[in-house]
Amino acid sequence: MNYLSTRDTERARRVTAAEAIKEGLAPDGGLYLPESVPVLTRADFDALLGRDYPARAAFILSRFLDDYDPAALAADCRAAYAPDRFPGGAAPIRTLDGDIHALELWHGPTSAFKDMALQIMPRLLSRALAMTGERRVAHILVATSGDTGKAALEGYRDVDGVKITVFYPVDGVSLMQKRQMQTTAGGNVDVVAVRGNFDDAQNGVKAIFSDTDLARRADEAGFFFSSANSINWGRLVPQIVYYISAYCDLVNAGRLAFGDPVNIAVPTGNFGNIFAAYLARQMGLPAARFICASNRNNVLSDFLAGGIYDRTREFHKTISPSMDILISSNLERLLSFLGGPETTRALMESLKNTGKYEAPADLMQRIRAAFSGFFLNEDETRAVIRDTWKNEHYLLDPHTAVGLGCVKKYRAATGDGTPVILASTASPFKFAPAVAEAIGMAPPADGNVFDLLRRLSGETGWEIPAPLAATETLPVRFTRVISPGEMPGIPFGA
Ligand SMILES: *Cc1c(COP(=O)(O)O)cnc(C)c1O
Repeated sequence: MNYLSTRDTERARRVTAAEAIKEGLAPDGGLYLPESVPVLTRADFDALLGRDYPARAAFILSRFLDDYDPAALAADCRAAYAPDRFPGGAAPIRTLDGDIHALELWHGPTSAFKDMALQIMPRLLSRALAMTGERRVAHILVATSGDTGKAALEGYRDVDGVKITVFYPVDGVSLMQKRQMQTTAGGNVDVVAVRGNFDDAQNGVKAIFSDTDLARRADEAGFFFSSANSINWGRLVPQIVYYISAYCDLVNAGRLAFGDPVNIAVPTGNFGNIFAAYLARQMGLPAARFICASNRNNVLSDFLAGGIYDRTREFHKTISPSMDILISSNLERLLSFLGGPETTRALMESLKNTGKYEAPADLMQRIRAAFSGFFLNEDETRAVIRDTWKNEHYLLDPHTAVGLGCVKKYRAATGDGTPVILASTASPFKFAPAVAEAIGMAPPADGNVFDLLRRLSGETGWEIPAPLAATETLPVRFTRVISPGEMPGIPFGA
């Protein structure tokens, strides 16, 4: 199977999956999409029903990554989703309200859903380097506002042929997130705090990527720079797996009959996770509608309602910070999938030049045939956490609470009571201050985050995820703080 850029109007430059994963972004600035989506037969689904998560993952990945050796993919999936990395199961389900199935994607090493992709993607990249005859080391650069950095560190540490440096804004991440990154193990990792905010760190990374002199010296020293964010196909494709796997689990548990429709709700930022759900439907998953859930940064629900994507608006810091995004990069994949590369190219040009675009009416009609958008403000989000704790004794993190609140708004607006698979994207302990406040606990006296975790656990009877608890006593390895201007001078490569 070949991959094409979302902006390739000639449909001329076809690359293999390994090349797409190695490149990340296409040279024309577009994102890679498979030429066609493989469709699962009833016999395929029957086979998947009887398998565990790693085997389902290997089966689905091998359909998209058909240039990879299937036995290698199977071994990688076994290792990536092993019980030592996902002690609570790779993607267990907890049913709420009778027919809202929370798909818990946060039982991995960093307690957020990005582990589902970042535990396997480094292995896919490592193989891609070998398959494309690449002898240089790939040096991954990440600027993070919190969750991505730690998930990337855990995924890439001690992977052959790869090194990783993560830059985070020194005062722009939570105490827990900082601690998680500073205590990372591994011989090929580096973590650097940057004075300034996330944009300063991000701009510093972009400057390194576009520094041709640095690239030349890197090449001479035997390495090249690469990125790990969700525009890479290698991060998107593993996310298709858990929607199909969840459906299989629900059928096996007798909660659905095979063929019954489901709606899928996803707390959305960059549009990667929900687009993966959409691709699962293209593969044959009986998904009816996709509920795109946003927080106050509701650029997507406005787009789905009015057809105008407008990032020229105030940016809000919320209690669901991983969705505080005004440019949802992966929406481009949906635009291209349903509207073609010409339209996509024009819309992306408009976004770049004016900060907004208006999608043609026929394209919006196709998008709205599958997607509905809703959003929650901060008080509504806290109310969902409080009520769900009170009524169901289920503790939601703020992102998942936004998702559940949007399911309720969708149901109230449409009367559509189709069972829902709700992507549950983070452990509530990862966002303990907001969660504790929402369920009425007193704020911590001295701001000690580990004391708060213990109190939240004591109050609710929920266990603190082991990887979060462990950071309290792990040695702090990385304490360097630099200014953005010093970023290109960090020793990379060797
Ligand atoms: C990254 C993230 C999201 C948003 O996912 P996208 O694929 O960017 O839409 C939602 N919740 C949490 C906890 C996240 O870390």
